[in-house]
Parts: sequence; C-alpha cells; structure tokens
Amino acid sequence: MNLENFKAICSYMLQKHYGIQLVDTHYGKDSVCQRELAYDIRPHEALNEYAEDFAALRIDVQERPGQRIALTIADEQAAMSEALSVVEATSSCMYCSCGSKTRYLVMKDRRQHHTCMNRSCRREFIATDETAHA
Ligand SMILES: [Zn+2]
Repeated sequence: MNLENFKAICSYMLQKHYGIQLVDTHYGKDSVCQRELAYDIRPHEALNEYAEDFAALRIDVQERPGQRIALTIADEQAAMSEALSVVEATSSCMYCSCGSKTRYLVMKDRRQHHTCMNRSCRREFIATDETAHA
C-alpha cells in the first residue's frame, strides 16, 4: 500500500466510522502515515489505535460505555470500494462539494486522490481517470 492509498482509506474510514476528518488527526501528516506503513500497519489497525488513544466513539454502531467495537479488515475493504463509488457520483468535475477546486495525486492504479484546496475544508476523495475527464 502506498502513502496516498493509506491516507485516502484512513480519511474515508475516519469520516464513516468516527465522523472525524483526517486533517484533525495526526494521520493528516505524511510523516506519521509513512511511519505506520514502514511498520506494515494497515489503516484499520492504525485507526483502532487512534480510537483507543483518543477515546473516539463510533458513529456507525452503538458502543456501550467501556465497550470498543474495533474496525476490521472487512471494514477496510468496504472503505476501498465505497470510497470509489461515492466519488464517481460527485466527480463529474473536479470541484469539492464546498465549491473549491481540488489538487490531486495519481496513484499507481491510475485513480486520483483529490484534496480540496480550501484551507478550512481540505476534503479528500478518490476519483478514477474516466470520471475526471467526463
Ligand atoms: Zn472543499
């Protein structure tokens, strides 16, 4: 897994499961993500660690007090495919939902990792080559 994929998946899972933006966590920093990748830590493992350290609560499932429902590899795989389908619906032009333009990195599989240029938004999403030129 490369850095862009790692960040994109963390970003999607943080929003879906915890309602947190990637930039509001230390995973917004490339150096932190690179360290996790160097130790072969997968996004769901990294986020479980984050939830533990910061007592983050799931928004997609009901956790009883003191109980922690950990993210799994299945959640991570779902994030990979869901992240793509969400973007396909919204990426007919490469503007963020806030109206600002995005900048993007092209990943090895030709998908594009977009980041909103609006400093107070910074939304990240994945787009395919075809949707980008549609
Ligand atoms: Zn935006």
